[in-house]
Amino acid sequence: MIYAANFKTNHTRQSTREYLGRLQPQLIKKHPNDKVYIFPPLTALDDYTSADFTIGAQNAYPVKNGAFTGEVGIEQLAEFNIKTILIGHSERRDILGESQEEVAKKFAFFKEQGFEIIYCIGESLEIREQGIEAVMEHLISQFEGIDTTYENFVVAYEPIWAIGTGRTASVEEITQTHNALKKVVDKPLLYGGSVKGANIAEISAIENVDGVLVGGASLKTETFLELVLH
Ligand code: PEP
Repeated sequence: MIYAANFKTNHTRQSTREYLGRLQPQLIKKHPNDKVYIFPPLTALDDYTSADFTIGAQNAYPVKNGAFTGEVGIEQLAEFNIKTILIGHSERRDILGESQEEVAKKFAFFKEQGFEIIYCIGESLEIREQGIEAVMEHLISQFEGIDTTYENFVVAYEPIWAIGTGRTASVEEITQTHNALKKVVDKPLLYGGSVKGANIAEISAIENVDGVLVGGASLKTETFLELVLH
């Protein structure tokens, strides 16, 4: 299983350091094959050398460096040895206005640099209510311009209506969607959307769920550990 924590715009440099300080000694208890990723805000990136977790960037601009006010490129990430990135999160697509074309450009750039990419896709409630065919059509459209044969890439299926809402997709919905997605892209497949201690057992038991991407429940070390060590 993969356990990925997306802090979004939460935590500071100091609180991230404290969080990781509490997390690290507990990870000795995790299953040796399980992988833990932490995506703190960009200001909290640092060179944390740990065999037990990987730090990734929530976002970056697809350049080495240059005149892109407010952005960071790979030169800034390299300072902290960051080689993992989240691309395509629905908050970046919907709130920050990233188009599929821009998302695909980022993917191609970071692929070229050999980054490990966690690539997010997900549908709105309106699409979900139209049924699985509409859902799959939408999800497949989010692979437009993406090299799905890239070896260093994980997919995170995150129904938008389940993110930060407390409303998790049902076991049936996750099963059906993950089974269909695996036929399209044969990569590790995470589920994201209100994963917490109360539902991790049933979600992680679903065939074709290879891990979880977690927002809210990742913000406290204890609640994230409830998932990793369940
Ligand atoms: C996310 O934004 O990736 C996410 C899954 O958030 P939450 O766990 O809070 O629903």
